[in-house]
This record gives sequence, C-alpha cells and structure tokens, in this order.
Amino acid sequence: MIPARQALERLKDGNRRFVTGRLDLGAAADEARRSELVEGQEPFAVILGCSDSRVPAEIVFDQGLGDLFVIRVAGNIVAPSLVGSVEFAADKLGTRLVVVMGHSGCGAVQATLDELERPSASRSPNLHSIVERIRPSVEPLLETELKTDRPALVHHAVRANVRASANHLRHGSEVLERLIDTDGLLVVGAEYSLETGEVDFFDGVGGEA
Ligand SMILES: [Zn+2]
Repeated sequence: MIPARQALERLKDGNRRFVTGRLDLGAAADEARRSELVEGQEPFAVILGCSDSRVPAEIVFDQGLGDLFVIRVAGNIVAPSLVGSVEFAADKLGTRLVVVMGHSGCGAVQATLDELERPSASRSPNLHSIVERIRPSVEPLLETELKTDRPALVHHAVRANVRASANHLRHGSEVLERLIDTDGLLVVGAEYSLETGEVDFFDGVGGEA
C-alpha cells in the first residue's frame, strides 16, 4: 500500500489531468484490470464525497477500477455507517489516505442554511437527519457578517462542513485514531470547484491556516 502523502500526490496528478482534459482512461477500466482485481482490492485512497451528480470521485481524480474506495452521501456528512465504511477501508484494506471532499454550491449545505434561516415543519425526517449533521458547523456562521453575503456564506459553510466531517473521522473512531497515531493514516479535507474542476486540499495537509 502506498503511503498517504504519495496517495495525495496521485490524486493531485489525476485532478490535473481532469482539469486539463488529458484523461488517462483506458487501461484503468479494461478487461485485464478487471480480472486482476477479482482476487482482491487495494484502493490507495478513501473518498468521502457528496452524492451530487456533478462530483464523481473517479472522474474528477481520473482513476480506474480498484483505485478509490468511494463513499458518497448528500452533504458528505459523517454518521456511524459512514465511519464504519472508512474503518473497513483503513483497517481491512490498508488504505492510508482519507479525503473528505465537499464542493462549491452544495445543495445539502444550502438546504441547511435555508432551514436555519426559515425553519419549516414539513421536512421529511430522513432529510432532516442530514440537515442536523451539517447544522452545528454552519450555524455559527449565521452570527457573523457573512449572514448578508449569501455566496460567501455558502463558500464558508461548505468548508466548515468539510472540516467538521474530517475532524469527526479523526476523533470519533478509536480504530481510525489508532491508525492515525501509529500507522500513518492521514485524513484531509478538500473542496471541488464546480466552476473550474479543481480540487483544493485545504484541511489537514499541513501549512494551512
Ligand atoms: Zn453537495
């Protein structure tokens, strides 16, 4: 299994190919590769991303069969079954990099802001459970001057939600905490831009504010 930092570079390279339109498809998903993977998988990164149809992890990182262990849920939230999925990849498959990836203009984050600004009683309890997961990280932003600047508010809320999910993974699981402390597991946060196609790794990579 490749180390976390190397896995991160591989994702950055793949995203660069995606952005510049030089996708490396072909061998990544052909019959030979498929046969090779029947006996097992060694995905080099876990991506916890949003279900949004515009942000498919394999495409935006230009990766093929067996490369990424992808978990997608609206608003890239962290709930017990999602933590369990990450634990499975990190503990059983040996994957050393976990990326929580939000994106610009996220509908789940915007729905949470709408709900906080104008609470509605009619929401489905299932949908509400997603909003409740996003709420704690974005609610404080409504107490700031961002309140009057919707685009800036959404931008900061998306990043706050990514940071919260990444922190939850870092500290909300004994298995992951142990792997981080002793085994080189790295959990980072990123934002995908719908506008440019670029992924900005802004949390947990070192050197950030
Ligand atoms: Zn989204």
